[in-house]
Amino acid sequence: MSLKKYREKRDFKTTTEPDGRPGGSSMAPKKKSSLIYVVQKHRATSLHYDFRLEYNGVLLSWAVPKGPSLDPAVKRLAMHVEDHPLDYTNFEGVIPEGEYGGGTVMVWDNGTWTPESEDVEKALKAGDLKFNLQGKKLRGSWVLVRTRGFGGGSKESWLLIKHRDEFASTEDIAAEQPLSVLSGRLLADIARDGGGDVAKAATGDPAVDAAKKNAGKIDDARKTKTAVTSRSAAKPAKVKAKRISRKK
Ligand code: MN
Repeated sequence: MSLKKYREKRDFKTTTEPDGRPGGSSMAPKKKSSLIYVVQKHRATSLHYDFRLEYNGVLLSWAVPKGPSLDPAVKRLAMHVEDHPLDYTNFEGVIPEGEYGGGTVMVWDNGTWTPESEDVEKALKAGDLKFNLQGKKLRGSWVLVRTRGFGGGSKESWLLIKHRDEFASTEDIAAEQPLSVLSGRLLADIARDGGGDVAKAATGDPAVDAAKKNAGKIDDARKTKTAVTSRSAAKPAKVKAKRISRKK
């Protein structure tokens, strides 16, 4: 595992992504025994979720176009991509257009993970890694299974699948929990704050939230109890509360 590919793809004079070299704004794990888990929602050329597991000093990374599903019947394509530095864990912001991955990045979920496969090295080679997530949104038992492209240099296809346990659900978690676990922001908020392409970022946010972004109209709608108000009321209370508290 190395960060060679990660560094080759990026110009650290232009992007604010970490270069992964010692002395960076390291977010080292507090306990050596716990391994970092993070999912970054990334509106680049297309929307995807970067699923990352700390292992051997780097973040093993898979790009999941549709994002994780809590439904064990749903298998989500996960393209194996280059290892990322541990510093990347807290990266949320704008990657300049024209740079590799240009667009907006949100820390969609984070926490720790525990291998369920006995030997992680062996499991990765075999293309069948079982693990448990202790995240804020994703929890319980999961598996990553490789489907093709064994051992090659090019991207390998894996599938990310939820195992059956008490955390399995048919809830569309990507749609129903669209906010950053770091900042409570939507992609459009992050783009705006970071001087990025707000309209492009907003295409990665759920439609209802995108509509709610028009603060003036929403405030009027709440007062006059129009159709928009009833749509807002249909949102989960947690999300709604966060959105309102951010209005000040
Ligand atoms: Mn990405």
